[in-house]
Amino acid sequence: MILSNFHAHTNYCDGKNTCEEMVQAAISKGLRAFGLSEHCHTPVPIDSGHPTFEELAAFGDEVRTLKTKYADKIELFYGIEQDSIGDSSTDGTDYVIGSTHFVNIGGVYRFVDDGADGQRETVARFYGGDWYAFAEAYFADESQIVDITNCDIIGHFDLINKNNEGDRLFDTSHPRYRAAAIASMERILRRCNLFEVNTGAMYRVGRTEQYPQTWLLRELLTRGGEVILSSDSHDTASIGYKFDEMEDLLREVGFARRKTLTRGGWTDIEL
Ligand SMILES: [Zn+2]
Ligand SMILES: [Zn+2]
Repeated sequence: MILSNFHAHTNYCDGKNTCEEMVQAAISKGLRAFGLSEHCHTPVPIDSGHPTFEELAAFGDEVRTLKTKYADKIELFYGIEQDSIGDSSTDGTDYVIGSTHFVNIGGVYRFVDDGADGQRETVARFYGGDWYAFAEAYFADESQIVDITNCDIIGHFDLINKNNEGDRLFDTSHPRYRAAAIASMERILRRCNLFEVNTGAMYRVGRTEQYPQTWLLRELLTRGGEVILSSDSHDTASIGYKFDEMEDLLREVGFARRKTLTRGGWTDIEL
């Protein structure tokens, strides 16, 4: 299989490894193309772990240097995972992943995915215990991700589902959950049709399903959406995690191809 991954973090933010370690691991795993996509800066006080503007500039410089250094071994790309409330520039990047990590509750920001306990607290304090109101608020914010970030790729579309293995927190087949997710997808599809199939939570928290869930991939396919494989890696070991399994799943769902980025631009890989 032709391996490539464009969602990867480094120790400029919450990743474990340096940029160069990530690149070397991608080469040793046989990737043809690889993108480093650090988190952006946000102005939210609870988001204290994200990079400073200076760190982001240094990250960009380092990726550009590595592109040249490893040019004969791998096609490297400079990306950013731009949050809906991100306030750092995306200028000079090769591509942008648009991701919603916070819900905006009348000016109060809460993490979408800060562990089951954090989510329970958000639902209890701000949504009167109604998980579907939380989901509706999240997907409403997510529906604007392209308008705000001008992203090329939709990052972890149903991130709210991260801690919900076995639907232990809320029911993802509930009509309100499904309606909110589909309305969000349809709004996004007006301007961007490339969604990542993200195995990050499968690696990090043992989820058995990718983002977006399989039923959402079916909805995406019927609406003309396209897909790109993503391991949302925060360490070297996770690069390309379960990509074989994801290719099988995409074939089963009915996708005929997936997208990748090359020096010549976006291109399709037959499944
Ligand atoms: Zn993310
Ligand atoms: Zn990420």
